[in-house]
Amino acid sequence: MDYYAVIGNPISHSLSPFIHHAFAKQTQQQLKYEAIQVVPEALFKMLSWLKEKKVRGINITLPLKRQAFQWVDKATQRARHAQAINMIKFLESGRSIGDNTDGVGFIRDLDRQFGFSLKNKKVLLLGAGGAAHGILPAILNEFPHGVTIWNRTESRARELVNQFSLQWSHAIDLRVDSNQSVQASHFDILINATSAGIKKEHLMLPAHLINPDVFCYDLSYGDAASPFLECAKKAHARACSDGLGMLVEQAAESFREWRGIQPDIQPVLEQLRKKLKI
Ligand code: NAP
Repeated sequence: MDYYAVIGNPISHSLSPFIHHAFAKQTQQQLKYEAIQVVPEALFKMLSWLKEKKVRGINITLPLKRQAFQWVDKATQRARHAQAINMIKFLESGRSIGDNTDGVGFIRDLDRQFGFSLKNKKVLLLGAGGAAHGILPAILNEFPHGVTIWNRTESRARELVNQFSLQWSHAIDLRVDSNQSVQASHFDILINATSAGIKKEHLMLPAHLINPDVFCYDLSYGDAASPFLECAKKAHARACSDGLGMLVEQAAESFREWRGIQPDIQPVLEQLRKKLKI
């Protein structure tokens, strides 16, 4: 039997064990996948222990993605761009390869659900944590008209922009925005990559940012996504989505890299929506 795990804190809400067991059943793979709670101070010790136990792969979730990037022996190009990983694959030799499948999961979900392309679009990305780091390279690769980053702690938004501006500033308008100028701007899509919802905290957003021309996407799902999506519906946003499709898409990409088989995401997404009643 091959073993896999997802690590993070909190982790009890994680749907990854359900998703990967469903993929395994669908593709007739023998594997066991567990969720393990890990605090940042214990991360490196836990990763070394899982490696010793010959676990084949690990998913990493908040708040450990950027820290885990420091641990792996090698990282894929998209993980190096993001400076954050959401999955590790262990080779037969024991070497660890870090990857980030969040970006591809996000772009594929936008396309699969809505046929929505980011090309030439004005993007407002809310948040500058692990998820924002993960999806930003994939967003930039779609050649948007511009990406504005807003974060509660502005210095983190600045760090994120500095990290990306060397490679991408010539192609797009990548900038940090203060609350004031965000209010005056117009966007085609608002992407909520903050953890405000999951922490049951209020996300302070100027109400008129959401209007009937704007597409709203929340990376979280279930109760965590409700406040943002309700706000979007009330303001008659053009369309809105939670991040459940992205979650299944990014998991499918991890599964494909670990097992060499592409699972069908649609039946698993439907099972999840039924299970969660969302
Ligand atoms: P993280 O690394 O802990 O970063 C959290 C971000 O949220 C930071 O930018 C933080 O701002 C901001 N934030 C936290 N509380 C806030 C509040 N009350 N108001 C405004 N901003 C606040 O977490 P993460 O890994 O980026 O995850 C963010 C969210 O994305 C989570 O809900 C996670 O579940 C979701 N996610 C979903 C998928 C998917 O596949 N659907 C994949 C990845 C992540 P500061 O810098 O000011 O602290």
